[in-house]
Formats: sequence, C-alpha cells, structure tokens
Amino acid sequence: MNLKVIRDGRPADSTLPAEELAAINAYAKTALTPEEVYTFSLILCDNEVDRDGERFTLRTLEELRGLFVGKTGIADHDWRAARQKSRIYRTELITDSARQTTAGETYTALKAYAYMLRTDSNAELIAEIEAGIKKEVSVGCAVARTLCSVCGEELGSDACGHVKGETYGGEICHALLDGAVDAYEWSFVAVPAQREAGVTKALGGKGGLKQFVKTPAGAPYAGEYAELIKSAALGKRYLSELRAEVLRLCLLCDEGLYPALSKASETMDSDTLAALRQHYETKSAALYPPATQLPGKRETTRFDGAAFQI
Ligand SMILES: [Zn+2]
Repeated sequence: MNLKVIRDGRPADSTLPAEELAAINAYAKTALTPEEVYTFSLILCDNEVDRDGERFTLRTLEELRGLFVGKTGIADHDWRAARQKSRIYRTELITDSARQTTAGETYTALKAYAYMLRTDSNAELIAEIEAGIKKEVSVGCAVARTLCSVCGEELGSDACGHVKGETYGGEICHALLDGAVDAYEWSFVAVPAQREAGVTKALGGKGGLKQFVKTPAGAPYAGEYAELIKSAALGKRYLSELRAEVLRLCLLCDEGLYPALSKASETMDSDTLAALRQHYETKSAALYPPATQLPGKRETTRFDGAAFQI
C-alpha cells in the first residue's frame, strides 16, 4: 500500500500529553522526555477500493489496528540507518460520516501515531514532515483471504467464477481483503515516480513474498522476484568479500584496530568499505613494497634464498 504521511496538527514545541508519552515509553529502553521525541500521525490503510481493485473489510482494519502497534518504520528503505527508526505507539480507526466509499460503507481509515527520537540523524526527516513535504509510507501486511465482492466466495475459486474489474449487474467486482494475518515493518520513501513502487501487500498468509509469487496472483511477479533474489545474493557476496578484504588489510597494517573495525564493518555500506580498502591498500603498499621489485642498477643481484624463507 502506498500511503501518505499526514502531519500532526500539534505544533512541534508544544508539550506532549502525559498519556502519549506513557504510551511511547512502553516501547523505549529508557524513559524518554517530551523534548527527546517527535510524534506524527499517518493513515495506514482504509476501506476504499484501491488501485488494485481491493479493499480491506472493516473487521480486517480492526485486526490490523492491533497488529500495527509497535511496528517500526525506516526512512527510504535504508537498512543501515538503525537510528532513523520510527515506531507506531498507538493506532485508532477513524471514520468520516460525510464520506461514503464506492462500496457504500462509511469511510473508515486506520490511523497510526508514531514517534522518533529528535537526533541529528533524524533532523532532516523531521524537517521534511514539518514542512509538509509529501513522503509516502509503504506498508506491508498479509491477509488470509481475498473474497469476491459479488458472491462472497474466495475470488478465483471454482465456487466464484467472477473476474476482478469486470462489471456484474452494474457493480464492478473487487476483492475483499479479509482476515489480517500479519503486519510488517513500514518505511518512508521519497515519493516514487511510479505509483506502484513500494507495494508489498502480501496475500495468502505468512509466507511473505516467497510464497506470494507461487500463488496465481503473484505468478506474474515470479521472474522479477527471482531476479531480485539473485541480485541480492550477489550484493551480499560482494559486500562480504569486500569486508573480508578490508579486515585482512587491517590486520596487515593496523592490527590494533582490528577488533573495533571487525565490529564496525558489519554495518558499513559498500562505498565506505571500498574507501577503507583503498586506504589500506595504499598503506600496505608503503609498508610492504612488492618483493619482486627489481634491484637498483648499482646493486648486485644476489639470490641467497633468505628473502624467501617463511
Ligand atoms: Zn464471485
């Protein structure tokens, strides 16, 4: 689901109500003060038919309301940025009685309240939310069933026979997402060029994307998924080799730094590791000139074997 961050109406410098802070502190390792946290709210999903021709049932929204509490969000899919985490600490269903959905229900949305720490690394994101710069939130959840809006049976099953998007008796057939199974981590993304970017709605239970691509609905994405898995494996291997090389060079040039670097390098990205490798390569070249270097002109070439003893 691609969803929009909506700004919290409360000015940033006002005092956070005590009960909000208590809800936040239920998740914090050490008790946080109002000055240390930034809160904002967002709409996670609603009961309107979305661009995939699917909508959540009210019961499912209620179930998701419970599942999303405590779930963390990260900015721009940056898995390194452990400190850039936001966390949902409270959720509620809100309704707009003046607005009816295309299915004729009162518009109902799942609203979440999230907090993040006012740290330097979060400052930019906080400023963007404050400025009202549109960021989309990509949220993933899994549901147990997709039911046909026309007959109520499992869509695409033998008992149903209706096709999503087709019109039956003046009504466009859509899918009802029913029975929340799980809610996943969510992320802020800069508004993607393609509206579909960031959609991770998984159907059919707990298996996630891996299982989803084996379903009829997911089959068209199986090739893309396989490519992604391949790229991810290659990326991981490259990163692990790069890290091993950096640590090897570190032992060679700066052994004392090894324990710290060994730990720190676990979260370094490829650019940082490559820069370190470059640095150590230069350093090791200076420390250990190549042994095959030709002797100077006036020196006598002498092979006594000692230079090659190990
Ligand atoms: Zn049907």
